[in-house]
Order: sequence, then C-alpha cells, then structure tokens
Amino acid sequence: MNLEQAKALDAKALHKAAAKLKPETRHFIDGKFVPSKKGKTFQTINPATGEVIAEVARGDAADVDAAVKAARKAFKSGAWSRMAPRDRMQVIYKFAKLIEDNALEFALLDTTDMGKPISEMLNIDIPGSVMTFNYFGETIDKIEGQVTATAATEFHYILRQPLGVIGCIVPWNYPLMMAAWKTAPALAAGNSVILKPAEQSPLSANLLAKLFMEAGGPAGVFNVVHGLGEEAGKALALHMDVDKIGFTGSTEVGKLMMVYAGQSNMKRVTTECGGKTPQIITGDVPDLDTAVQYAVNGIYGNQGEVCNAGSRLIVDAKIHDEFVSRFQEKAKKSFMPGDPLDPSTTMGPLVTKEQQKRVLSYIDIGKKEGAKLTMGGIVPKGLDKGCYVSPTLFTGVKNDMRIAKEEIFGPVTGVLTYKKLDEAIAMANDSIYGLAASIWTSDVSVAHKAARDIEAGIVWVNCFDHGDMTSIWGGFKQSGMGRDKCLETLTTVTQTKSVWMHLG
Ligand code: NAD
Repeated sequence: MNLEQAKALDAKALHKAAAKLKPETRHFIDGKFVPSKKGKTFQTINPATGEVIAEVARGDAADVDAAVKAARKAFKSGAWSRMAPRDRMQVIYKFAKLIEDNALEFALLDTTDMGKPISEMLNIDIPGSVMTFNYFGETIDKIEGQVTATAATEFHYILRQPLGVIGCIVPWNYPLMMAAWKTAPALAAGNSVILKPAEQSPLSANLLAKLFMEAGGPAGVFNVVHGLGEEAGKALALHMDVDKIGFTGSTEVGKLMMVYAGQSNMKRVTTECGGKTPQIITGDVPDLDTAVQYAVNGIYGNQGEVCNAGSRLIVDAKIHDEFVSRFQEKAKKSFMPGDPLDPSTTMGPLVTKEQQKRVLSYIDIGKKEGAKLTMGGIVPKGLDKGCYVSPTLFTGVKNDMRIAKEEIFGPVTGVLTYKKLDEAIAMANDSIYGLAASIWTSDVSVAHKAARDIEAGIVWVNCFDHGDMTSIWGGFKQSGMGRDKCLETLTTVTQTKSVWMHLG
C-alpha cells in the first residue's frame, strides 16, 4: 500500500495490518535470502508491548565473508558499476517509487520494531528515504572528472571512480532513513553495498534490499547481513576486502570503526555519531512562542532518540521563567506517550528496556547532581508494559553536569541560563560533540556571529531541524567526520585517479 493510502488508515486498520506482517528475517546475500551459516538467531522485540516479533538471523564473520564475496563479484562484473549512468539512474528512480508504493509495510515494520509513532514513519522517515534515493539518483550522470592544464606534450585527466565494496553500519533510531542515507550515495556512484542494520531494528532492511532487485538492481549489489554489533558489525569493519565503512551510531562505536580500519586493510571510514545539541534562545528572540514550540519538538520528536536532539536549552536569564512556563504548557499539549500504531500518537516507547533503564538512570543522575526536575521523569501510568519515559525537563542545569555533557538519547532536556552572548556561545562549544546547534535572535549581527563561532556541522537561525537534501549533515569534533545528504557525500564513496599521457 502506498504512502497516501497508508496515511488514510486508522489505528484499528493499522493494528490489523501489523498482525498480518510476516517479516523476512534471513540475510540477503547475492540476491537471495539465506539463513546464518551457523543457524543462529536473535530476537527482535516490540518495545510498545514487550512481545517478540521475530527470530532474526544472527550473522558472524562467515556470513559477512559470503556477502563481501558476492558484493565484490558483482562490482567486478560491471553489471552495476559500469551500467550506463542513465540506466542506473532509472533503477534508482524505480527503487524510490517502490519504497513509496510499499510505505505501509515499511511503516509497520519500523514502528513495531523500534517504537516510533507511525505518523513519523509516514510523514518523515518514508518521504525522507524516497527523497534521498531520488536526490542521489539525480546525481548519477553528474559525477564528473577533470582535464587539467599541461604542457603541449602531455595530457592529464582525473577520473572519479567508485570505491568498490562499502559496508553500511546503521543505528536503530531511523532504521529505514539511516539505511537510505548510507546506501543511496554508495549505490548511485556504482558501488556494491553490505547493509548491517542495528539488532534492535533489523526488519525493514530486507524489504529494502528486495525492492532494489525488483527495481532492476543486479544480484550481489545490495546485500544485508543481520547480527550483533560485536559479531556481524565488527567482522564487516575488520574485513580485508571491504573498501569503506560508512557508519552512523554512537561516538564510542564510531571510534572503534577507526581502530578496526587500522587493524585490517586501512579501509576508509566515515562516521556520523552522537550529539548534545545546544539551542540558544536570546532575549530578543523574534517570537518566543515559535522558539518554544521548536524547542519542544526538537527534544521530544522521535522520543528524543535523535542525534541532533536539542538537549541543551541555553536561555537568556531575562526570559528564563517565561520560557520554562511556556515550554511545559506546549510540551503537555504536543507530546503524549501512547500506542505508536495510532496515527494520532506523537510519542512512542523507547527502543528497548535497556534504553529505558539508561534514560531513567540519567534522570536520577540529574536529580543527584542538583538540577531541578521540573517536568516528567517517570514511566507514564498505564504504559508500564512498554519502554516508555514521559517528556522530561530539568531546570537549573550547569554545563559541567553529566546530564549536560553526555548524550542521553531520550526525551530529556535541560535549561541553562546565560547573561552575555559570548558566555552562551562558550557554553554551546564546551562539549565533545558538534553536530548541530541553533540560535534564536532578531539581531542579524548576533545571528552571523553565532553561526560563525558555534562549532557544529549545522547552525540553524530562527528555526530548528529545517533542511533538505542540499544541506550538509555531519559533525564537528566527536560527532564524527562524515557528511550525509548533500553532494559532498559523493566524494566519500568515490576516489580519484590521474591518467597522465605523454603525447610526444
Ligand atoms: P551504536 O553505536 O550502539 O550502534 C550503531 C551500529 O553499530 C549498530 O548497527 C550496531 O550493531 C553496530 N555496532 C555496535 N557495536 C559494534 C562493534 N563493536 N563493531 C561494529 N559494529 C558495531 O548506536 P545506536 O545505539 O544504534 O544508535 C544511537 C547512536 O547513533 C546515538 O549516539 C546517535 O547520536 C547516533 N546517531 C547519529 C546520527 C548522525 O547523523 N550523526 C544519526 C542517527 C544516530
């Protein structure tokens, strides 16, 4: 069922459709679904109900090796890597269309697997994934080389070529969309890919791989290996015949990717990692209500399980009380935890019991550190079977508290205050992370100064989380060193080669 039809369904119809789901749980290697060589599996659990959805193939080094061999064979055959650019483009466009046509199944798979509200799947993740494939599809016949100026006796040109075999290791917070961000540019440039989805949210990856072939993609170009990070993920990152790992996930594991590259074949690595995004709200904010609504959406959307979640609200001391009171009012109206399969639900459960425990432990830490728990901080009543945490706000937060320093990855934010702008910018930058930031001001000089001085891959002015495929997505500092979306990404999935001819 396509996107528009899926959007018209009510909770009852969505539950009925979810009950009928029969997700494919094997690996997808060389165009076929196959079980793990050792026959092992792991469980994936619906975090809204605690029920087991499926037993999924648990891959290890042997399964990864089979996928890498298939990917290399496909790459060398040229069936995809040397397909005429406009033909490759047509496959990617058809693939994007098929994702849209199968929107209901994608939405049900990711919502039941990781708990995000189905309305987010239908309005953000699926359209965002379709747009990603279309955008990179459009670039295929625009990847160009160069001819340089040389002496008349010489001729020099530079080719831009695909890398070969790319491992895409992705997290669980946007299972389909993160897979799209990683695989779309790699495929567009002619590479073969091996997708390793997160073990908390493995189910939509197989549908993606299957649709790639339905769209006309050759066997072996898009492979999926399931499994645990330290088994399948590590084996992929250590493999001697993988040319690159495109990684999205935690900073801790991102660092391991660089270690594994060094321990194996010095493969290229790009990392998109954690964040602790500051939003600076100045005393001359153009419209406080709008800023507050964006602050609320910026932390509670997707249960706060967002790399750029606005988890540090740096507010001018003059407007602190007004900001905090409006924030609570708007949060209560906008985010109410509930059944993620109900299209009116705005907040689902966290991804697992472990994640719920982790987030609740940070709430304890915040209280012990002396921050004031002003809103939430509990498991909502009646939802204790699932992994829920209510929208939470701390005030009186200091930047050296753990709740201001560490990525919580849940619906928890804190308000810090400042008196002078320099102080606010210094606070924003006093973090190991640098993924995103925002500034709310009516003063154009303040806006430009902050945009220049804040250490982050994206700085929003008088908005938050706006953007399209042309905007850069990537971190400063320990938020990583990759770039997703945007044209620059193509440079990370290709390599350049000089051809120098002596003409005599
Ligand atoms: P994670 O680092 O635990 O896992 C990410 C992926 O790495 C998973 O597929 C996992 O199986 C794999 N993995 C784990 N250990 C591994 C190992 N030793 N070797 C190889 N692979 C391994 O992250 P997560 O909990 O799935 O996701 C949350 C994190 O992702 C947060 O830190 C969030 O900020 C980050 N994230 C960043 C972006 C971005 O664009 N910067 C986007 C989404 C999520």
